Amino acid sequence: KASLYLVPTPIGNLGEMTIRSIEVLKSVNYIACEDTRNTIKLLNHFDIKAKLISHHEHNLHVAIPKILHLLEEGENIAIVSDAGYPAISDPGYELVKAVIDASYNVVPISGCNAALDALVVSGIAPQPFMFYGFLSHENKNKKKELEELKNQMMTIVFYEAPHRIKKTLTVMLEILGDRHIALCRELTKKHEEIIRGTISEVLEICDDLKGEMVIVVEGAKEIVEEEVFEQSIKEHVQSFVDK
Ligand code: SAM
Repeated sequence: KASLYLVPTPIGNLGEMTIRSIEVLKSVNYIACEDTRNTIKLLNHFDIKAKLISHHEHNLHVAIPKILHLLEEGENIAIVSDAGYPAISDPGYELVKAVIDASYNVVPISGCNAALDALVVSGIAPQPFMFYGFLSHENKNKKKELEELKNQMMTIVFYEAPHRIKKTLTVMLEILGDRHIALCRELTKKHEEIIRGTISEVLEICDDLKGEMVIVVEGAKEIVEEEVFEQSIKEHVQSFVDK
């Protein structure tokens, strides 16, 4: 029976492409990928010759049937995203589900993932943890999502874009309180940086931060009474809003 291979690709440092990932990509005739321009660079670098199938959030209705058809013909298919694991804050889940429903094999290949790199380097309890990915971009929804997480005692891992980091940390401070976090930037790249501290400490220095970022946030210590919490955090938040 044909297989779908989930192949992670480097989140920065090309040296982190594993031997098995290269072997699998060399073994298949077709690779489903998010952005063909990005993936071509990776394939050229490792001298991989497979044909590319465009597979992104806006063409799943075309890409998934096409991939199922190839599996039916006995072709093994690999899927990659632009970086890290496919299906982790990237396209892939719908395809995996469809391939399982059609009774083909799904095979995970181990490798790069920004969330796990950040978690292990954060200095914040690595388990139990939950992976949240991106919060909503819209302020009201972001607040609502954080409200739902605020009594969560697990370490939480978020992805965020650099132009939203200040706003997101300010809202986190307001809703979650001044918890310990690790802001993990440009992981595996030349300018890799891990900033550890409370949310307010990180806010002090996050103005000019660029690059890709993961925020690891410690879980709730205890369920704090609403009024006590609001009183203690209000002034703190205001000082950042005023800046
Ligand atoms: N599939 C990827 C994975 O497995 O990690 C995640 C893709 S998601 C579209 C991109 C986000 O991942 C970025 O906005 C950032 O939050 C995080 N990210 C990716 N590469 C990173 C890196 N080198 N350093 C820090 N964060 C990174």
